[in-house]
Amino acid sequence: MSQDFQGKCHCGAVRFSYQGEEISKGIRCNCSICVRKGALMTTEAIAPEDFIIDIEEGALGLYEFGTKTAKHYFCKKCGIYTFHQTLRQPGFYKANIGCLEGVDSSALEVINFDGKNLL
Ligand SMILES: [Zn+2]
Repeated sequence: MSQDFQGKCHCGAVRFSYQGEEISKGIRCNCSICVRKGALMTTEAIAPEDFIIDIEEGALGLYEFGTKTAKHYFCKKCGIYTFHQTLRQPGFYKANIGCLEGVDSSALEVINFDGKNLL
């Protein structure tokens, strides 16, 4: 069953929404960037046409490294990582579950992804 999700950074300058699968699990990854962010991410990769981004002008930061395939977005005002476009499914989004309204990230089953050795 699909559900509507609304997300935002801490200050609200970066907002996003999508319709997706009910969230019962989250992914934590140990690759060089994720291990530093420590965020719990959606297991679902959301298609770009289904992912709606609403930002205050100039607030969305983009960080890229390595092959620059993955796009790591964050709010330039409050510094929070909100979502990224994945390495494994370029263009598709995964969101920071901690940014989603009504989802308790601490209550979810955590799947550890060994990005450090698999990417
Ligand atoms: Zn912000």
